[in-house]
Amino acid sequence: MAKNIVDEKLDKIRHSMSHVMAEAVLEIFPDAQIAIGPSIENGFYYDFDLPRGLNQEDLDEITQRMKNIISEDKEFKRTVVSRDEAKKMFKGQVYKQELIDAIEADQEVSLYNQGGFTDLCRGPHVGSTKELNKDSFKLLSTAGAYWRGKETNPMLTRIYATAWSNPKELRLYLAKLEEIEKRDHRKLGKELDLFSFHEQAGPGLAYWHPRGTRIRLAIEDFWRAQHYKNGYEMIGTPHVGKSWLWETSGHLDFYKESMYSPMEMDKSDYYVKPMNCPFHIMIYLNGKHSYKELPFRWAELGTVYRYEKAGALHGLMRVRGFTQDDAHLICTPEQMEDEIKEVLRFSLFMLRSFGFTDIAAYLSTKPEKCVGEQSQWDAATESLKEAIENEGLEYEIDEGGGAFYGPKIDLKVKDAIGREWQLSTVQFDFNLPERFNMVFVDSDGVEKRPYMIHRALLGSIERFFGVLIEHFAGAFPLWLSPEQVCVIPVASTFSEYAQKVCTRLKEEGVRVYLDDGDDRLNAKIRNAQNKKVPHMLIIGEKEEQETAISVRYRTGKQENMIALDEYVSLLKNKINGHEMV
Ligand SMILES: [Zn+2]
Ligand SMILES: [Zn+2]
Repeated sequence: MAKNIVDEKLDKIRHSMSHVMAEAVLEIFPDAQIAIGPSIENGFYYDFDLPRGLNQEDLDEITQRMKNIISEDKEFKRTVVSRDEAKKMFKGQVYKQELIDAIEADQEVSLYNQGGFTDLCRGPHVGSTKELNKDSFKLLSTAGAYWRGKETNPMLTRIYATAWSNPKELRLYLAKLEEIEKRDHRKLGKELDLFSFHEQAGPGLAYWHPRGTRIRLAIEDFWRAQHYKNGYEMIGTPHVGKSWLWETSGHLDFYKESMYSPMEMDKSDYYVKPMNCPFHIMIYLNGKHSYKELPFRWAELGTVYRYEKAGALHGLMRVRGFTQDDAHLICTPEQMEDEIKEVLRFSLFMLRSFGFTDIAAYLSTKPEKCVGEQSQWDAATESLKEAIENEGLEYEIDEGGGAFYGPKIDLKVKDAIGREWQLSTVQFDFNLPERFNMVFVDSDGVEKRPYMIHRALLGSIERFFGVLIEHFAGAFPLWLSPEQVCVIPVASTFSEYAQKVCTRLKEEGVRVYLDDGDDRLNAKIRNAQNKKVPHMLIIGEKEEQETAISVRYRTGKQENMIALDEYVSLLKNKINGHEMV
């Protein structure tokens, strides 16, 4: 409860600040058109139609004027006028006119005024600008924003700002922003030479560089090994399919806008796949299946393409082409409960293997409009709930928030700086088995409909990689590091032994390289440190004499003179144990 009161207070502060900002902007640009200015998480924004773009000097001036307005102790006064009066008061303000027009004719219009500025507003606000603190807000950035978010509408200038109750809260928040910026996977991706995007070759399509690919393959190798261990089979399916497939699946009815345009071949339309499911179903339909064969657990690292608006693209987090760590479970009604328990257990195991320990579940249940029998929904939802409780997970229920074709569980993890990311999804589907007429022959000889469950544990390899980069701030755990070990001879005299150590580690399957260049020792260590290599092996005379190594860890810790054999087994244990360094 206490938290809500704090939130409400902050909300009022932020929203009042947006009015103050609009007043300051109008002082500088008296002809500006004002649109809307809500409070948002951590702050507020206001959208303006301005005669020109803004630079940092403008933001500084707006800030200064806001401080002046705050110091003037202006009261926020609410008045109520008729719609016609409001239209007169906002004469010339086209966006406000549009907002007023949307209010019913006999309705009154609520206004808030502080000194020289009046806004169309429901409130609530703080009593006076003296309740705002001139040292606890900061204008952060400007961005283009379409009026009412519609691309056919004029582009406005949005000024984003953050605001808090006191300067200390502001400082803490700005420090967190700095941390987020430092960890930004787009920035680290460049610095660590992991991946790139190429606007001219197609926006939203990731190119994996050798170092990024090493990490990707480490993830995928682990993923495959664990899937085989957990009773899955791997399958492989095409990247394109004829319109028949997408008509049958229904994607052309309800998903077409997210699909790439078709290509014509032999008078047929082929679509690049936005999902793998229909292809997996084709393999199921290839033969008749008895209850004795089920369950099928078919997995594929399936690359799909979906159209995302250019403005929505964001590094690896939001892309137009990505590889889902996809699988479909097809089972009898009797097997369903165990399958769900197992898949949830497997999800948690996978997430924890990558260092995520704070995991919460979100259960989405039956919406108004849906397909499938009530009894199916009940059974499926119950099994999801039981599986969550069985694992002792914290969970929230989004009543009615499920897709029309079935209930689901999403798993969200908290990263190193407390941000939540949705990764795993376990989703029932009562739609596709029906549309593709999937059946199995039950023990009584009768053909029945199997349960089908879509699931992705990591989500997509691209997005998961982005989350990992930010979670670890680029310093990947030993088992994922592109180079696990760097061997550094202290002088060229020891290059031969250093090469021997390197070869030995390579034979053991370790990702290792030798730095026997002309740089000084310190420069070599710095280079390896910049690449965030977990282990640096320092090789000198004593090490060579005793067939040993000295290791300097990425953390700065050092251990001297470990016998080479001992180090190899130590290293392999650390790699297999998914230790950080
Ligand atoms: Zn307001
Ligand atoms: Zn699927």
